[in-house]
Amino acid sequence: MSEPSVRPGGTVMELVAPHVFAPTLRPVPEPAAGEVVVAMRALGLCGTDLHMYGGRAVEYPHVVGHDGAAVVTARGAGVTGVAVGERVTIDPVAHCGQCAACTRGATQLCPDGGYLGMLGPGLLAEYVCVPARLLVPLPDAVSDLAATVLEPVAVALHLLARVAPLLPKEPVPCAVVGGGPLGILLGVVLRHHGYAPHLFEPQETRRDLAAAVGLVAHPPEPIDLGDGPRLVVETSAAPAGVALADELATPGSVVAVVGRAPHSIAPPSVLLKELSLIGVKGGPGQYPEAVRLVADGVVDPETVVTHRFGWHEAAEAFRISVDRPDLVVRTALVGAWR
Ligand SMILES: [Zn+2]
Ligand SMILES: [Zn+2]
Repeated sequence: MSEPSVRPGGTVMELVAPHVFAPTLRPVPEPAAGEVVVAMRALGLCGTDLHMYGGRAVEYPHVVGHDGAAVVTARGAGVTGVAVGERVTIDPVAHCGQCAACTRGATQLCPDGGYLGMLGPGLLAEYVCVPARLLVPLPDAVSDLAATVLEPVAVALHLLARVAPLLPKEPVPCAVVGGGPLGILLGVVLRHHGYAPHLFEPQETRRDLAAAVGLVAHPPEPIDLGDGPRLVVETSAAPAGVALADELATPGSVVAVVGRAPHSIAPPSVLLKELSLIGVKGGPGQYPEAVRLVADGVVDPETVVTHRFGWHEAAEAFRISVDRPDLVVRTALVGAWR
């Protein structure tokens, strides 16, 4: 896999080793044809960022970050559709735009692509040069803070598209395993589409937050959700969450794998219950619709942002996000760089 053409510049908060950030000064990148330079205004700390902070980056130093709000500062040749000074978010699925997968809209499966800030550099920097095709304009109704948690909304929309051919038209009973930002916001979007999702989460803070946005939240134990097949969505990425998803899945159910757990439901269970096990990787092409849902007030991503820090407090922001899952649901870096 080749690296996405993403180039951070200005003050870059490099993860120089597990648990260690260091601000380094790099030249502000110049946009080539088809590229845009943006000034970062806000960035969300996602589960994968926290994993790389903890030691799972491919190499160090590394620049994490893929859920952000920014403003366009320079455009390369041939860029149309975004203006200098415009507020934008960045679709984090880097892709070539030309291969068979990209051509049919499956940018998340592009062999030359990948998530920003995972194999290649990400957005935790004052300026970032990115391919213009990744930019999605933000209307005034979508705040910088809301734009740091658009990914769960885009993932929920992709999930709905993935499961639609496998389920009856009338919404079936629905369980969402894991009450992090992904589980909660995904639950809100599913509800908007007619489902009545039950959310399962061990942390009380997260159950309270889910309840505050009107979701039915339970401790992680199987309950009777009624007869027939269900839609079970695994977002926790934890072995216990996968086990619970298996228990909640009745014969004929669709199980959507959204969290990246080390293993999934075992083949005998998939076979004997004739489950449809589907992967949901990101929210390809769904960012414009996700922005619309937020602008229309269908879902408010700000509700899951429990902690905010300045850019230079990145180390503290990551530390508390990893150490205190009982307190922190989602953290954002916001404010001025200088
Ligand atoms: Zn993310
Ligand atoms: Zn491609």
